[in-house]
Amino acid sequence: MKTSGKAKSKSKGKAASRRRDPSESGAGQSRPGQSGPPPRRRGSERVFEGLGVSPGIAIGPIHLSESTEVHAVEYQVPAGRAQGEVERFQAAAEKALRQLKKLRRKASEFHGASAEELGYLLEAHLQMLQSTRLQEGVRRRIVDGRINAESAVMREIEGIAAVFGAMDDAYLASRGKEVREVGYRILRNLTEANFTSFRDLEAGTIIVGEDITPADTALMDPKVIGGFASALGGAEGHTAIMARSLGLPAVLGVPGLLAGVEPGATAIVDGDQGLVIVHPTKRRLAHYQKVRDRLARASAALGKLRNLPAATRDGRVIGLQANLELPSELEQAAVSGAEGIGLLRTEFMFMNRDDLPGEEEQARLLGRIVKGMEGRPVTLRTLDVGGEKLASALGDHLGNPVNPALGLRAIRLSLKVPELLETQFAAMLRAGALGHVRILLPMISSVEEVRDARAILNRVAARLVRQGVAIADPLPPLGVMIEIPGAALAADSLAREADFFAIGTNDLIMYTLAIDRGEEQVAHLYNPLHPAVLRLIQFAIDAALRNDKPVSVCGEMAGDPRYSCLFVGLGVRELSMGPKALPRVKDRIRKMESTAATQLALSAIIQRDPGEIGKLLDAFNLEV
Ligand code: PEP
Ligand code: MG
Repeated sequence: MKTSGKAKSKSKGKAASRRRDPSESGAGQSRPGQSGPPPRRRGSERVFEGLGVSPGIAIGPIHLSESTEVHAVEYQVPAGRAQGEVERFQAAAEKALRQLKKLRRKASEFHGASAEELGYLLEAHLQMLQSTRLQEGVRRRIVDGRINAESAVMREIEGIAAVFGAMDDAYLASRGKEVREVGYRILRNLTEANFTSFRDLEAGTIIVGEDITPADTALMDPKVIGGFASALGGAEGHTAIMARSLGLPAVLGVPGLLAGVEPGATAIVDGDQGLVIVHPTKRRLAHYQKVRDRLARASAALGKLRNLPAATRDGRVIGLQANLELPSELEQAAVSGAEGIGLLRTEFMFMNRDDLPGEEEQARLLGRIVKGMEGRPVTLRTLDVGGEKLASALGDHLGNPVNPALGLRAIRLSLKVPELLETQFAAMLRAGALGHVRILLPMISSVEEVRDARAILNRVAARLVRQGVAIADPLPPLGVMIEIPGAALAADSLAREADFFAIGTNDLIMYTLAIDRGEEQVAHLYNPLHPAVLRLIQFAIDAALRNDKPVSVCGEMAGDPRYSCLFVGLGVRELSMGPKALPRVKDRIRKMESTAATQLALSAIIQRDPGEIGKLLDAFNLEV
């Protein structure tokens, strides 16, 4: 998110709104809807601006994630599968086309010689990608040679590169490299290859790439990786969420970044200001080292709240739980003082692999987390892939939708492929024998989906009991995510079918305002304080309370202390967030009066203008 107006509306947004070079007052204000100005230079130092999506400061050497080549295995395909391979290739090539066009658009917003150079290069890549020679060549190799799409692409690009390489003209000869780059792009899309080369890196390394996916982020060990930055990506996508969860400072959507960095150069990622500084001056480096130390001290001070309750000054207790993306965050959840896991995104079990995890494997992984929480509640959400969250393991099931966010995502996929849901339910029920488990269904839009899922859950439970397998007894509560506007508006009927609600503000905002949460071009329009969003949230909370059903908020808004007063005032008694965010939210809750928060929420909800709502919240937060 990039505008100052709504930028304050979320933690990383707040960061982006204050995007200023700390040593140059007033510089670098962002412009609505644009991707930011070109880098500023001082000597060899370059300062790039992007979206500060995960707070904190990282200082370290750059590792370019794009430098990895992709290697694919060759195998024969039967005649009947050749057409399917051609379609896989076409889908990967179309994706490459979208990626290149997006990069070209970003490059056009950027000025200067390197931008021009980047523009030419991207144009050349686009032409190559669209050339009949490449398209036809790959198709022919698949159909005539009966080989898989990956090897057809590799062979074809090697063939074209060899033709260029043999030319006398030095310029033309050099184009072989570009052909290979285009080929690797298609291959990466085909294999959904991730940047596995994050090992053996110097501690504190900063990963820089064109587009860093959630699956790439899952491979980053915060003990080794200091932070990351990418040319593409929005503030609300899963890469951003994972960065915050892992506590990795990150800046996404940085125009011209790749043209301006080299591997090994020292860089600073300022996740608060949304800045990437390459070759920092001595003065700048010293400044940032001080900021980093100060942040570490502040975080240690908040750590002291760990064993204190999240209670308002007038005694209203709010349950604070953690969202988990990866099992490795369990320790961080414990350190933050989380009273349970309010949202376990089970997608991690499906990432970075080509096959599907079976019941045994899932039961083992989930069981370990449930056991680790020692009796505290763990909310296990069924698979939520599709949309921006693609798992290669599900490739055939997901197809190639024109509009993935509105397609076969989450519960829709699980109900269409019931074996997926049955396996997950079985694993969850088995994990439930080891502790306190709740089951959560993502992307629910109708009561039928809840009924169908519950019928499957009951059936799976009966089967396991018959087989003598230990499962949760009684059966875990079955809750629904409220993250589609229609679900919020139909919350009364859903409250009768579901055992609890978890409000997913990330998708609720996206679908209400028609803003792709991972798209930096429209990030400035993603506004949590839009009156339509607040009304839907209020509607869902009221329906849950009227029907005596527990309701929590587990979207990113829950982890931003700016909104804590609003949720407390609207009657929410449970918030779930990335573990790193928990101490700051607890601190805010302990400073407020719940009666004052109720008054504030009543005034906020009747405002027409998001700016006014923001002012009310900020004034309230200043006073507490
Ligand atoms: C949400 O949409 O707010 C949510 C918590 O789910 P996810 O971010 O995993 O889509
Ligand atoms: Mg969601």
